[in-house]
Amino acid sequence: MYQTRAYSAASPTSPLDPDTIPRRDPTDHDVQLEILFCGVCHSDLHAVRDEWNSVMPTVYPIVPGHEIVGRVTSVGSAVTKFQPGDLAAVGVLVDSDGTCPQCQSNHQQYCPNLVFTFNSPDRHLGGVTYGGYSNSIVVDQRFVLRVPSNLDLAATAPLLCAGITTYSPLRHWRVSEGKKVGILGLGGLGHMGVKFARAFGAHVVVFTTSPAKVDDALRLGAHEVVLSRDVEQMNKHVGTFDFILDTISADHDVNAYLQMLGRDGHLTMVGLPSNPLTIPAFSLVAKRRSLSGSSIGGLAETQEMLDFCGAHNLTADVEVIPIQKVNEAYERLLKSDVKYRFCIDMTSLKSE
Ligand code: NAP
Ligand code: ZN
Repeated sequence: MYQTRAYSAASPTSPLDPDTIPRRDPTDHDVQLEILFCGVCHSDLHAVRDEWNSVMPTVYPIVPGHEIVGRVTSVGSAVTKFQPGDLAAVGVLVDSDGTCPQCQSNHQQYCPNLVFTFNSPDRHLGGVTYGGYSNSIVVDQRFVLRVPSNLDLAATAPLLCAGITTYSPLRHWRVSEGKKVGILGLGGLGHMGVKFARAFGAHVVVFTTSPAKVDDALRLGAHEVVLSRDVEQMNKHVGTFDFILDTISADHDVNAYLQMLGRDGHLTMVGLPSNPLTIPAFSLVAKRRSLSGSSIGGLAETQEMLDFCGAHNLTADVEVIPIQKVNEAYERLLKSDVKYRFCIDMTSLKSE
């Protein structure tokens, strides 16, 4: 076991503050990374503030962060995929049982025994896992991804969660040319959803509460932008969509968006507001509409997404911040003031 620097929160109402945490010494199958960049996901904020208490209570102190890009510093004797000096990435998962039907079909994100990068029981050290707001991490090689060499590293980190969480449902529901696709919310996930849906050939419509994001939405790849608080603009699209991806982080009226779907239209939730939804059965029955959810993606699909991004030169739009600004970034996330992912330059933690 060794110690590394990190930022942690001590309670739901505490800010993130400098801390020192333990990491295991790499076992035969482990890869040790020096973390270079870590994206700031709204899930980090939900977890730090214990907003998912009823489903996934937070254990304190919490070290969030699951959009990790780094350089390999050492590898265990059985590691074949990486060597010291390689660039590598870690996302939302760091372990799973490997034997259940979900793991066997490369859907590790649906394994009943999955281990999240933070706030999951740590079977090596006890306590809970600690995430990427830190200088170093040790992860089983099966959960470490290869980073395309042509991509900017800070802009690549958000692909590990915002990227795969939007790529996976857009692929699963076969978003492609000829489909009209809605993206709800232009934050970290939403802006990646726009980029992927456009890259897959769809007609892309962004729904936003932020008038200041309209020009950016078009620049990022949207064909149309709807201000969701403008009833007239909303009414124009009722009953016309094939697929809608809901990335909104706060409570909102999902039914208003179900109305946007045409016959056999489908809405997938990836956003995780803390309160339950109220959905009238009539909204689904009327046009054989359906509603589902989707969680990140499996390891093979995450690598596929990274390789797709490498081939298409596609990354996140990031505002790079030092770790000392992370509490401010959280406040800005709550005001939807993000363009479009905060990414922490982890070298800033070394100078503390
Ligand atoms: P984010 O960057 O904060 O973006 C969320 C966006 O939602 C905001 O920028 C805003 O977009 C919109 N929004 C916020 N409050 C709203 C409201 N009251 N009504 C309507 N729209 C509102 O968050 P993120 O990191 O993209 O994460 C989004 C959600 O996905 C979070 O709940 C997160 O926990 C969840 N998530 C799920 C998974 C998964 O596997 N399913 C993975 C990662 C994250 P506009 O300014 O355009 O309105
Ligand atoms: Zn995330």
